[in-house]
Amino acid sequence: MSTVMLKKAKTLEPLNPNKSTALFGGKSSGILNWNDIAYPHWYKMYKRLIGNFWQADEVNMASDVKQFSTLTEAEKDAYLKIIGLLSTLDAPQTRTALLLSLYATDPSVQSIMAVIAQQEAVHNESYSYVLSSVVSLDEQNESFQLGRTDPVLMKRNEHVTNHYNLFVEEPTIENILKTMVYTALLEGMFFYSGFAFFYNLARHNKMVGTSTMVSYINRDELEHGRFIAELFRATLGENPEHNTEEFMDWVYQAFETSVENEIEWSRYVLAEVEGIDLDEMAGYVKYRANKMLRMMGLSELYPEFVDNPMRWIRAYVDNFDGTKTDFFEQKSRQYTKTSDLNGFDDL
Ligand code: ZN
Ligand code: ZN
Repeated sequence: MSTVMLKKAKTLEPLNPNKSTALFGGKSSGILNWNDIAYPHWYKMYKRLIGNFWQADEVNMASDVKQFSTLTEAEKDAYLKIIGLLSTLDAPQTRTALLLSLYATDPSVQSIMAVIAQQEAVHNESYSYVLSSVVSLDEQNESFQLGRTDPVLMKRNEHVTNHYNLFVEEPTIENILKTMVYTALLEGMFFYSGFAFFYNLARHNKMVGTSTMVSYINRDELEHGRFIAELFRATLGENPEHNTEEFMDWVYQAFETSVENEIEWSRYVLAEVEGIDLDEMAGYVKYRANKMLRMMGLSELYPEFVDNPMRWIRAYVDNFDGTKTDFFEQKSRQYTKTSDLNGFDDL
């Protein structure tokens, strides 16, 4: 297998064609005509992403500010730990989107990644925004230290950290593919036990502002996961020499280990939280892993979790389409028009 380092794409190369010859390591002029791109349906993905625009301070935190002090100690603790976790995992996504974009030789990928990076920046801002609404600066800082100090969280993030950093040092096709695998895991699975915690609070009428914000993040992450899965499949298709048994073993192993770490984390952080069945949560994690594997064109690892075993959560995520009322705000929100590619329904 080749270990050729990819070069960053040049900004403008007028001698090259506008329509790129490859996603990575190809030729393109740098000029983007959305009507003449190598993967035409990615325009729809771009439109859906851009249609999801929102920003943190649109969410009203007034009732959460009052309610936070009435949460149980276990709920407060989990709330701060999970925001810490989400911020730890979401922060690098801003930069990873940029890095993928720098090596992409297809300008449609560069534009899509620019939108994703912008949304990741908003996600990060929103964690600061909710925390600053409910706790003191000292407690906010403590929460943001967890990714550097909490051993369970650090173990959980170890593989992501190593591979993201390896991609920076050795930008080969193989490391780009591996980065996409971890990005798919982040966007499609790692965040979801955290999301579930906030939806569980919301179904008990607690911290509905925070949960509304989480639902916007969730909606973005689903789209990001969908695009990364597409990009992974297309990149592998263009580089068949990487589609080996050894590489696939690595992918499935990465999924398995990530599922185990995620379940371990959820049992640690949600142990004392009422209303969440930890076995059901473990099933939900496996269900999410299956979904991402399917999207990436791979086989499911957990055939007993093809359907979502955490039934109550459907009420909170099923409203991510253009027709339904926003569950949390109880008012119409302008969502992107859905298309046949939109599969929020079966989250
Ligand atoms: Zn994010
Ligand atoms: Zn994302």
